[in-house]
Amino acid sequence: IIEARNVSKWYGTFHVLKEINLTVHKGERIVICGPSGSGKSTLIRCFNRLEAHQEGEITVNGVALHGKMGNVADVRSNVGMVFQHFNLFPHMTVLMNCMAGPMWVKGVPEREARKTALKFLERVRIPEQANKFPIQLSGGQQQRVAIARSLCMEPAVMLFDEPTSALDPEMVSEVLETMTGLARDGMTMVCVTHEMGFARAVADRVIFMDAGQIVEEGTPDAFFSRPRHDRTKLFLSQIL
Ligand code: ATP
Ligand code: MG
Repeated sequence: IIEARNVSKWYGTFHVLKEINLTVHKGERIVICGPSGSGKSTLIRCFNRLEAHQEGEITVNGVALHGKMGNVADVRSNVGMVFQHFNLFPHMTVLMNCMAGPMWVKGVPEREARKTALKFLERVRIPEQANKFPIQLSGGQQQRVAIARSLCMEPAVMLFDEPTSALDPEMVSEVLETMTGLARDGMTMVCVTHEMGFARAVADRVIFMDAGQIVEEGTPDAFFSRPRHDRTKLFLSQIL
């Protein structure tokens, strides 16, 4: 569903992504980890064209993000993204946060958008918060709204950028449980996270990035038990 071939990106003269090759198949769950500044966020932001790369090819759900680009909105509506800071619309209720994308981007009728929104709020287990505003919710609840809002667009793949790192510890597990449920239901997911328990339980593949490169990738078992590269070993020794 995602195909990246020799992708390179620079910020000015700084080479942030170096010849990245990565294929994500339908239904696969990928966890990306690595030190701060290694390019994890930049890479997944390239997958929905929040960032543009300069070299190489990225294809997402059949749409090429290089050469003669198609419609960026088409790409975005197929790719859900959940950020560290939930990025909800503060002036809209939870329900409207979930209805806005389908109605305004996809032209879904209001009744149907409401039905879908309630379905996914149910799915992340906060239907009772539908008429509140984001500020009235806990961090964990806000993040679950952000997940529901993405799901309302019926994306082909979900990208997560450290969705739990801004949360108080007691709220981390509710968000991880929501993500685990999504994975069980077969959602294709690319998650930047340092939650290694989640990676072990859910990931088909763990990818380790350092200094703009994919240094190592493997099954969670191989990755955690038998890391091959010194940089991976060092990283794991720091976070485990
Ligand atoms: P973290 O774990 O801290 O989130 P990361 O692996 O997600 O790190 P990125 O956010 O992708 O790292 O950033 C990679 C590098 O690119 C960093 O050195 C960062 O300073 C730099 N960078 C990120 N965004 C920009 C930007 N808009 N302009 C210039 N440099 C940037
Ligand atoms: Mg980041």
